[in-house]
Amino acid sequence: MATVIDGRMVAGEVLDGVAAEISKTGLKPRLAIVMVGNDPGSQIYVRLKEKACARVGIVSTNYFLPENTKQEELLKLVKKLNKGPDNGILVQIPLPKHIDPEVILEAVDPEKDIDGLTEQNLGRLFFGTNPYPPCTPGGVLKLLDRYGVNIEGKDVVMVGRSKIVGKPIAMMLTNKNATVTLCHSKTRNLAGHARRAEILVVAVGRPKMFTADMVREGAVVIDVGINRLDGKVVGDVDFESVKGKASFITPVPGGVGPMTIAMLMKNTLRACQRQAKTKG
Ligand code: NDP
Repeated sequence: MATVIDGRMVAGEVLDGVAAEISKTGLKPRLAIVMVGNDPGSQIYVRLKEKACARVGIVSTNYFLPENTKQEELLKLVKKLNKGPDNGILVQIPLPKHIDPEVILEAVDPEKDIDGLTEQNLGRLFFGTNPYPPCTPGGVLKLLDRYGVNIEGKDVVMVGRSKIVGKPIAMMLTNKNATVTLCHSKTRNLAGHARRAEILVVAVGRPKMFTADMVREGAVVIDVGINRLDGKVVGDVDFESVKGKASFITPVPGGVGPMTIAMLMKNTLRACQRQAKTKG
């Protein structure tokens, strides 16, 4: 039976570490949270981020803009924040359809890009020098590290190749000397690839898609997926069947999810530390 990886506990440890560092150094990190429109999911995430900021001692400022905000206006705000006192800038996605998220995210100063998703920071990720690892991928690596999962030389299969999750995880694990296969919707024989994996990471967005017959005996299974099924939140992995076969497994909820916000807090602190150095 697999050890269930407790993301809430590890996220709590990360947050405690950030809070301790802030009180020890006397730094006052600041995070600007920008949200356009009233997407209900985004509202929940923004509230959770505010709560995490308050818990660790980061000053958060919200910029809530109406749904009909023009791209130019949003761009102007981001440019203003780039020059302002906030150490980190977070633009909540999704944006309304008339705004191109790539244009907005790219306008964030890479030094304040605590999501780590500007082209410059993704380029640095390639070399392992991104000061702000993207938050969900950073959270996945932290969980593996915290549970003592050795990555070097391991056969990893990453399913999903999005810019925010799959590709960065594949790159970060490659930098840690894993042998990574990156699968996606055009992959032939996905089950065959998945069954080979010593570490299987899935970020697809399909409820309970990965069943026990697709998992190798003793594999480490990390489920990034968040789906709604019959009124419940479930992952991409069929947790009940797979936990009997895996050595470690993340639950949904309570696995990778809580790590994303914790890593965001860590990146905001890092931004403050880096900016304090260049100022000092
Ligand atoms: P995207 O929709 O951007 O990417 C999904 C990926 O899955 C794509 O690469 C796609 O392939 C691949 N895919 C789709 N169908 C199949 C299939 N049948 N077989 C193999 N691969 C397939 O999603 P995200 O990466 O943004 O998110 C993935 C999941 O993770 C979602 O459930 C999301 O809610 C969750 N998530 C969770 C977070 C957390 O904090 N825990 C944070 C971010 C996301 P292709 O590229 O070919 O289209």
